[in-house]
Amino acid sequence: MQQYYDVVVAGGGLAGISCLIELRVSGLSSVLFEKSPEPGGTWFSNSYPGAGCDTFGPAYSFQHLESVTKNWRWSSRYSSSDEIKEYLNYCIQFFNLNDKIKTNTEISDAVYDKNENIWKVFLSQTAFVSCRYFVMATGPLSTPNIPDIPGLCLFDSNIVHTSGWKLKQPSWRDKSISVIGTGTSSVQLIPELAKDCKRLRVFQRSPAYCLPARQRTLSQTEVESYRLRSVDLYTEPLQGALGPDFKLSDRMIPDSFDISDSNIRQQLDAAWKRGGFSLLGAFQNLRPELLRNQEVNKKLRKYIHSKIGAIVNDPKTASRLYPAYPFLSKRPALNDHYYQTFNQKHVELISLKTEGILSIENTTIVTNRRKYNNDLIILATGYQAMKGSFLKLNPVGLNGSLADHWQNRPQTYLGILCHGFPNLFLINGPLSPGPFSNLMTLSAIQSKWISDAISKAGSESLIHVSRQKELDWVSASQNLTKGTIFESANSWYSDKHDSTSSGSFLLYMNEPAYRDLLSKSLTEDFYHN
Ligand code: NAP
Repeated sequence: MQQYYDVVVAGGGLAGISCLIELRVSGLSSVLFEKSPEPGGTWFSNSYPGAGCDTFGPAYSFQHLESVTKNWRWSSRYSSSDEIKEYLNYCIQFFNLNDKIKTNTEISDAVYDKNENIWKVFLSQTAFVSCRYFVMATGPLSTPNIPDIPGLCLFDSNIVHTSGWKLKQPSWRDKSISVIGTGTSSVQLIPELAKDCKRLRVFQRSPAYCLPARQRTLSQTEVESYRLRSVDLYTEPLQGALGPDFKLSDRMIPDSFDISDSNIRQQLDAAWKRGGFSLLGAFQNLRPELLRNQEVNKKLRKYIHSKIGAIVNDPKTASRLYPAYPFLSKRPALNDHYYQTFNQKHVELISLKTEGILSIENTTIVTNRRKYNNDLIILATGYQAMKGSFLKLNPVGLNGSLADHWQNRPQTYLGILCHGFPNLFLINGPLSPGPFSNLMTLSAIQSKWISDAISKAGSESLIHVSRQKELDWVSASQNLTKGTIFESANSWYSDKHDSTSSGSFLLYMNEPAYRDLLSKSLTEDFYHN
């Protein structure tokens, strides 16, 4: 089969769905290919116990789509993965997108044909389709980071990565389980496993910062007051995109705060009690000195240590849970029960700093101290973030593949365009704001930009960014991180945490400026006949 479409979208997560929604009024023919049996992306595959989103529920939605928003009632302060998946399915039904979404279809290759100015997109089941515009909505956090441990076999049904939960559906109740990794996913998963498993061992390389979520049901009034805002994607303030944790009235703490000042302490305690990201939203400056000044950051780090110490009974375990790296230099997690879980007798925390894993023999973890037998091993070891899924598909453009172009480091313009790849768009690509925004909003704004750019280009045009523009964007992104706490952290933000690391910062950290630049860039000179 060979078919032609104006636009082919790779990936049926929230970014791909958002792209179809934005393209629906363009009059262009479009199709979306998704490798999983159902759309939903992350919210389909990450169905591990406790999976959910820690952005304020109603904010983690396509807030600008009034017609959808007025018919949807979010239930809780933070939505579960099931509720978000239902919402995405509702959007698909609402906009009649079902016929455009082809599930169980993996794109294996995509090649640009410069003579015909088309992309040839090769599929797992049919020969290929061609299109003028190819959109990669394959996800910034979808290609797993699998640790390089001798003997580790992913084909074993009792070894699962958090992102493979839906497909493997491992049995875990009354079992002995080991979890490797303690990032955001693990923080959600561990308290849920502990409720019903026989024994839980947590292998930790670096402790997470976990803030109290204060999860609760939302009142009708709260949902309505959020719903009644009208949202323009290009100008919506970040505060609106992230939700009420960043309310202007709560922003009381100055950059140069004194932690021994009882008034400051009271405000920190009040923010801790409000939960969520209120601790960050309590600072007067939305981009506080915490991000630049290690000494200021240390004060808040100590405050959080004191909170952890007050929850965890065993001082040795508590001290293992104190993060030694700057607060916010990695993505903090939210949960109401994470630290309490380590007070339970059947839960053990093992620090990989003092006890390294030598190998895995079937489901036995062998460390330099002892052997741990398990019924199930869970890898909560994160992702080849921001780049993995794009490199996995590895489209071939004018001068070679994306892997060639990104040999030294991922490079894009606005996180959307790449030099050498005409009419190719990435959504949530490297050097876009990622976790400095809300991925639902960011996907919507980038999808709108793509749809606007395609309309502006017209049927004969080519959208191709110059090398100079791309280089300028790379250096602008790097300049934003100079002198910040991010420079020293080993996080996925700075591509330093896995075996495929380039060591370069992968995000554009000024989200409000990003929106402004995005809207202005639509008139730039990357349209060619
Ligand atoms: P992650 O935050 O990258 O955490 C991975 C964990 O695995 C870290 O503790 C890491 O240790 C550890 N690790 C990595 N390689 C290892 C190895 N070889 N040996 C031992 N430990 C290893 O991954 P994640 O928890 O899946 O979360 C990824 C991102 O997804 C988050 O940052 C967030 O943006 C997003 N997420 C969001 C939500 C939400 O509620 N919105 C929920 C889940 C995830 P180090 O810290 O030492 O590298």
